[in-house]
Amino acid sequence: MITKFLLDEEEIPKRWYNVAADLPTPLDPPLHPATGEPLKPADLEPIFSKELIKQEASTERWIDIPEEVREIYRLWRPTPLYRAVRLERALKTPARIYYKYEGVSPAGSHKPNTAIPQAYYNMKEGIARIATETGAGQWGSALSLATCIFNMKCTVYMVRASYDQKPYRRSMMRVWGAECIPSPSDRTNSGRQIRERLPNTPGSLGIAISEAVEDAATHDDTNYALGSVLNHVLLHQTVEGLEVKKQFEMADDYPDVIYGCCGGGSNFPGVVFPFVPDKLGDKKDLRMVACEPTACPTLTKGMYTYDFGDTARLTPLLKMYTLGHDFIPPGIHAGGLRYHGDAPLLCNLVNNGVIEAAAFHQTEVFDAAVTFARAEGIIPAPESSHAIKPAIDEAIACRKSGQSKALLINLSGHGHFDLSSYDAYFEGRLEDYEYPEELVKQSLAKLPKR
Ligand SMILES: *Cc1c(COP(=O)(O)O)cnc(C)c1O
Repeated sequence: MITKFLLDEEEIPKRWYNVAADLPTPLDPPLHPATGEPLKPADLEPIFSKELIKQEASTERWIDIPEEVREIYRLWRPTPLYRAVRLERALKTPARIYYKYEGVSPAGSHKPNTAIPQAYYNMKEGIARIATETGAGQWGSALSLATCIFNMKCTVYMVRASYDQKPYRRSMMRVWGAECIPSPSDRTNSGRQIRERLPNTPGSLGIAISEAVEDAATHDDTNYALGSVLNHVLLHQTVEGLEVKKQFEMADDYPDVIYGCCGGGSNFPGVVFPFVPDKLGDKKDLRMVACEPTACPTLTKGMYTYDFGDTARLTPLLKMYTLGHDFIPPGIHAGGLRYHGDAPLLCNLVNNGVIEAAAFHQTEVFDAAVTFARAEGIIPAPESSHAIKPAIDEAIACRKSGQSKALLINLSGHGHFDLSSYDAYFEGRLEDYEYPEELVKQSLAKLPKR
C-alpha cells in the first residue's frame, strides 16, 4: 500500500484559490478604527504593499502565484500527504487517517507559505525592511527566512516573556539575519509609554503589534506584515489544500472529515478552503472542523461582531468571532492559538454553517500528540495537536461502529522548539483551563458599540 503521496515540483499550484468568490453571504468590510466607515485601500498604504492590499479586497476566484515565489516554494513544496497506517494499527480502527505535513518547511511550520509572497511583493515595491511582531516566535522566524531570501531587513518585536523563555526561535531569526527585539522596547513611543507605566511587564501580542505598526508607519522604507487573520494570508495558505486535493486523487480517496487547529485561522483555512466549493456542491456530507483550545474558545464561545485586532485599538475593526480585544488568555502551551479573534473569511463560513468548530483541553491534546508521535515518529507542535485529538476520537468511534471514514489532519508544524511543554506534560505540570463563561461575557460587554 502507498503511504506517502508525493507530487512533482511542477505540481506546486500556479494559482492561489480565493474563497471570497464563493462565500454564501458577502464578507462584511473592515471598518476604520476612528470613523467606523468602511476602510479604503489608501488607509492601508502607509504600512502595507499595494499588491497585498489588492489581494485583501479581491473577489477574483484565482490569483496567479508569481514564478519567483514558486521558485522559493520549491525548497520544501509540495509537502507530503501521509497515510497514518501505524496510527491506524495502534488504534485498531477501520478509519483511513491521513495527514498533510507542513513541518518540512525551513522554519518548521506552514507560515513561510505566506511569509515568502509577502516579502516578495514588498521587495518588488522597493521596500527595504519589514517590521512585525511575534508571540511564540513561529511567525518571526518564518518572516526572517523570507526577508533573508529576498535580501531585505527584518525587525521582529517579540513578546518579552517568550523572548526570555524561548531563546532558540530567536536564535533562528538571528541566523537568518533579522533583528529580534524584546517588546515592549525603547524603540517606539508605544513601547516607551508601556515601560514607563509597567517597568516589569512580560509584554503581550497586542503591545508588540502596536510597536511593529508604529515602526512601519514612521519609516518610509519599512512596511508591516501579519502572519494570520487577514484575507491575503489565508489566500496564500491555500497551496496546502490545492495540493491535498491532487494527493487524494492519487490515493483514489476523498476525505469525510478534515481537522485543523485554529489560532488566527490560517493553516486550517489553507487546507479546507479549496474544498468549500465541493461542500456547497455535491459533497454536502463533508465535515470541516476548526479545533481550538478551551482556554481560548473564540469560535465556540465568542460573539460574531465587529472588534479591534489588537489591545491598543489601533487596527481596523474586523467582523469576526471574538472574545473581546482585551481578553487575556491563560498561559497555555499552544502559544500560537492564543488570539482573541479569528480570520473574517473563516468566521463567515462558520457563521454560515459550512465549517464547524470544537474546543479541547491541553492535557487531552498532549495525550493525542504523544500517541501520534509514538505511532508516526513525527513530534507535532502543540498547536497542531489540537487537530489530532478529535481525529483520534473519530477513529476510535469508527472502531466501535465498524464504519470506515477517511479522516484528514492538517499537521501545521513540528514541536522541536516545544519540547519543554512535552516535559511539563510528562511531569504532570499541565493544567486544564476552561475560560469561564462569566469572563467571556465581561470582556464582550466592552466591545465597541455600533
Ligand atoms: C502559528 C501557528 C498556528 C496557528 O496559527 P493559524 O493562523 O491559526 O494557522 C498553528 N500551528 C503552528 C505550527 C503555528 O506556528
